[in-house]
Amino acid sequence: MSASTGNLGALAGRTVYLDPGHAGTAPPAELTADDGRGGTKPCNAPGTASDDGWPEHTFTWEISQQLRTILEDAGVTVLLSRADDVHRADCIDERTYKENASAADVVVSLHADVSGPGNTGFHISAVTDPLPHNLAGESSRLASTVRDAMVSAGLPVSNYLGTDGLNPRADLSGLNLSTKPKILIEFGNMRDADDLAALRSQEGRRQRARAVAEGLASYLA
Ligand SMILES: [Zn+2]
Repeated sequence: MSASTGNLGALAGRTVYLDPGHAGTAPPAELTADDGRGGTKPCNAPGTASDDGWPEHTFTWEISQQLRTILEDAGVTVLLSRADDVHRADCIDERTYKENASAADVVVSLHADVSGPGNTGFHISAVTDPLPHNLAGESSRLASTVRDAMVSAGLPVSNYLGTDGLNPRADLSGLNLSTKPKILIEFGNMRDADDLAALRSQEGRRQRARAVAEGLASYLA
């Protein structure tokens, strides 16, 4: 079975929570969220954009809808952290509380990064320095399994952050507050021309969404 036609059968009957990062309308700057380690952060960071103004929140929304279709076709119940790419959405802590309260088997936050030109590739974060309620071992296994599926699909790992496509973090509310197997994927660098072209194309997003679905199927098998 080739990487592009991997078996999604293990997904049938599962529930996957997708969190397309950021929101169509940014929240007021003074609105804060619990950072999960005793402090606060902005409710939702505004996210990044390409040099010509294509916003990260639109990339994350578009790939969430492609991934949703692939997962639903495989028999998955898909839950989403926001309803559209127009309005304000829940703060990052509230999103995580809703994920925790759901029946989701796994949670995937979808993002794109900002760095210098020439810095390319994807990386995946799971919680590090875990808190007692975190499913750190499961989240780490989820991260490496999805990484493996993306590599099998021919997608290059980051050449500027993390190790072999994995970049564990202790500073993300959405990971610190989670009680689920949860990862955050940075699909590429919106300030690198090649990464941006892939993220901006329907086919580039479809290839990435398919690889993530295959990784979720491997993890849940
Ligand atoms: Zn982001």
